[in-house]
Amino acid sequence: MPELPEVQTIVMELREAGLIGCKIRSVKVQWDKIVAVPDAATFAQELTGQTIAGFARRGKYILIQFEAGKYLLLHLRMTGQLIIKKATEPVLKHERVVFELDDGRTLRYHDTRKFGRFYLVNDPQAVIGKLGWEPLEAEFTVQSFTAGLVQHARQLKPLLLDQTFIAGLGNIYVDEALFAARLHPQRLANSLTKTEISALHQAIRQVLQKGIANRGTSLGNGEGNFASASRRRGRNQESLTVFRRTGQACPRCGTAIQRLIVGQRSTHICPKCQQLKNKHKV
Ligand SMILES: [Zn+2]
Repeated sequence: MPELPEVQTIVMELREAGLIGCKIRSVKVQWDKIVAVPDAATFAQELTGQTIAGFARRGKYILIQFEAGKYLLLHLRMTGQLIIKKATEPVLKHERVVFELDDGRTLRYHDTRKFGRFYLVNDPQAVIGKLGWEPLEAEFTVQSFTAGLVQHARQLKPLLLDQTFIAGLGNIYVDEALFAARLHPQRLANSLTKTEISALHQAIRQVLQKGIANRGTSLGNGEGNFASASRRRGRNQESLTVFRRTGQACPRCGTAIQRLIVGQRSTHICPKCQQLKNKHKV
């Protein structure tokens, strides 16, 4: 599933591709359920003739702003991709929504598993209002993170995956951040020391920044794997430390990486670097 760095990579490419200022000539919805709000016919009708004013990201959502004031929010879920193609290229089976632009290009939404969703709204808060911290923004401070963690007697892994707590992290970057901070995924959030909180705060930002610098993580070669709007694969999979590296050597101490299930999610740790101990606060 695309996480913050992958979604940010797509947004950067959509901006770089010069789509801002383009007008939508037509909208073809090939799989109605992709459109969550409103219904597919109204969606196509309301977007026809709209001019793209900007692209942004919040958590794992892509926001497309239109000059007339509406917002199109998109969550890619498991296998969603936005791809820019010439209008003359044939529409593929898995291209669920096709936006025809006024410059001879199309923006296509490709989704093999069809879990992605579009929301066309006047106020983005209706969709993203409950999201937690944006981890690379100034609002995500050690102080605010500390205040949030102490309120939760939950295990770190499910808490960090909870988008209402912190937005944009998924399975890859949570495992990578917990390893970087030397924290076991089953540690309780309210058991962390000041030093551990600082380490985790720094680790979250670093793994996300590295992911963006590497233009995202592309696992596997299937057509549903992450690729950017120009069909480029990311490079971050080459510098992962624990995620999907079960049995391989920990880059820090050489111990074999282990896979465990935490909160029903596949989780990867170094059993030596990330030991489970619920310390008292200091
Ligand atoms: Zn280790």
